[in-house]
Amino acid sequence: MQLAPALSRSVTTPAAWRPRRVIATRAALGFAHGRSIAERAAKLGIEVMELAGDRLKLDLPDDPRRAYVEAKATLALTVASPSKRRLQPIAPSADWRVDLAEGCPAHCSYCYLAGSLKGPPITRVYANLDEILDGLPAYLGQGTITSRSRTRAGEGTTFEASCYTDPLALEPLTGSLSATIAWFGRWQADAQLRFTTKFADVAPLLALDHGGRTRMRASVNPRAFARFEGGTSPVAQRLTALADMAVAGYPVGLTIAPIIAAPGWQQAYGELIADAAAALDGIAGLDLTIELITHRFTPGSKAVLTEWYPGSALDMTEANRTTKRTKFGSEKQVYDAATMRDLRRFFEGRIATDLPQARILYWT
Ligand code: SF4
Repeated sequence: MQLAPALSRSVTTPAAWRPRRVIATRAALGFAHGRSIAERAAKLGIEVMELAGDRLKLDLPDDPRRAYVEAKATLALTVASPSKRRLQPIAPSADWRVDLAEGCPAHCSYCYLAGSLKGPPITRVYANLDEILDGLPAYLGQGTITSRSRTRAGEGTTFEASCYTDPLALEPLTGSLSATIAWFGRWQADAQLRFTTKFADVAPLLALDHGGRTRMRASVNPRAFARFEGGTSPVAQRLTALADMAVAGYPVGLTIAPIIAAPGWQQAYGELIADAAAALDGIAGLDLTIELITHRFTPGSKAVLTEWYPGSALDMTEANRTTKRTKFGSEKQVYDAATMRDLRRFFEGRIATDLPQARILYWT
């Protein structure tokens, strides 16, 4: 396995997110990792407000538009409570969900977090990283998702770090992702850390001693759909970053998500798959997986996203949709059977042609 960084493929360093303010709870600053995040922010010239207690006071404006903008520019440095450190299964990606943070600074008009996180969209990062990581060994061998899959059991117990955040977006401020990758690298266990990202600054990760126990996936959509992904890195940079990670010996993947059946989708996704194949071409020992996730929304997420992104051209009407009931009784709108069939046939065919070495993990 090659662990040395491959700087030759990187073309530019993407701009890092800078929150307008950081609010730190008293408990968070009691952890060395919390203090180091506060110091990183202060060094970058970001105002750090130290609270006297542990209750976040946000003082957001009443106007919903301004409140959204303020919240998205706010980083809260907090502590993950014991209940948040109790891991949940996360099908179909991984056996367990492990959260290093909650919230994301980007502005995607389909963001799945709109349906899962309540309240103003601030980003919370956790100062008690050591406690979070110390809790993981208890879950080893206990997985019921990928560990029980005939095709994926070989991955070991899997831990997904991108369910409630984009961990790479926050890395320049927190260092939490690097620390977690290095921790998995030292963990001599049949386990895998997984994260997916719409960001591209992988430079701090390339030289880590990852031990092959972290799979990075680039979450991608065609350039033609970039207008739905405000504040993220350009897709070409994400693919370059993925190639850099692969050359550095990481197992890698593409999360093609959300797949949007907008007019011209065949050409747009065909070009995307061809671009990915070109970016990864010739990498020795490439270990590549693909996850295919079609666009869906719930009545709740649609209401939140319509308020956040009132001018978005993203189609959230009933056209080409059908209602699917989850096992918890809630409803979501997914593409109808005919659209799903067309999409799936296209993706499976095009991937087999352009990326024959890739393993498709799931279609949903
Ligand atoms: Fe949401 Fe991911 Fe976009 Fe962040 S990058 S806003 S988590 S979809």
